[in-house]
Amino acid sequence: MKIHPAYEMLRPGKKFPNVWCPGCGHGIVQGAIIRAVERLGLNRDEMAMISGIGCSSRMPVYVDFNSLHTAHGRAIAFATGVKLHNPKLHVIVVTGDGDALAIGGNHFIHAARRNIELTVILMNNNIYGMTGGQYSPTTPIGKKASTAPYGCAERDFDACALATAAGAVFAARGTVFNAVELDKMIEKALTKKGFALVEALSPCPTLYGRLNKEGNAVKMLQAQKANTINLKAAEKLSPQESENKIITGIFYDGEAQPYTEVYQQIINKAQGR
Ligand code: SF4
Repeated sequence: MKIHPAYEMLRPGKKFPNVWCPGCGHGIVQGAIIRAVERLGLNRDEMAMISGIGCSSRMPVYVDFNSLHTAHGRAIAFATGVKLHNPKLHVIVVTGDGDALAIGGNHFIHAARRNIELTVILMNNNIYGMTGGQYSPTTPIGKKASTAPYGCAERDFDACALATAAGAVFAARGTVFNAVELDKMIEKALTKKGFALVEALSPCPTLYGRLNKEGNAVKMLQAQKANTINLKAAEKLSPQESENKIITGIFYDGEAQPYTEVYQQIINKAQGR
């Protein structure tokens, strides 16, 4: 029997079924990462997958790369250490909106500023899932969470704008509804020499969906289709027409000297080479 190459990237013993609820978007993101790695012809031994805490952070349990499952919010800090120790590794950080933008917010900003060569896949479900449905930095204003029973009073972060402003060389937003586009974004991000962010909108029907009466997983995916618009299409609309739409696409694709190169130059100077 011929085995699909992507299957080889899943951990032996397979640890399945996975921990994610039926209808959770994270499994689709996992598939997109594996397909992107496979299409680039990368060997799983060349890969490292680092996570913190949260539903999305369970991914290294299933994917058979070098992996670290670390403390809440600290995935980018650990990943920085891994990349500096072995610059040849392709280091992927899998994280959620709470993990990356609240508890780990400073690591996110400064890793982008330093242009550390990490591919950060941020699964944005607008809520803390595993820890009980608390509101996160991407919970839209007015939306409910276990810690915001009358609606969130805070404005939400735009992760792509934040990463770009901080110095990332790549920032894109995709959806699990459009998995084909998401695959391509991750593939492109993996080729960048520097801090590359792919924000994957990934519905949480169990907590965010229930608390906000958004219906089942299918309805949430249909809403994702209806409420998102590609960057090119959005440019043709007036601000009023695109006001309530979430824009997807590649927001920034640039170049800057990667941190490990700069660091090697300093080592050379210190050693008189
Ligand atoms: S709680 Fe939400 S994010 Fe966590 S596995 Fe379930 S559906 Fe996914």
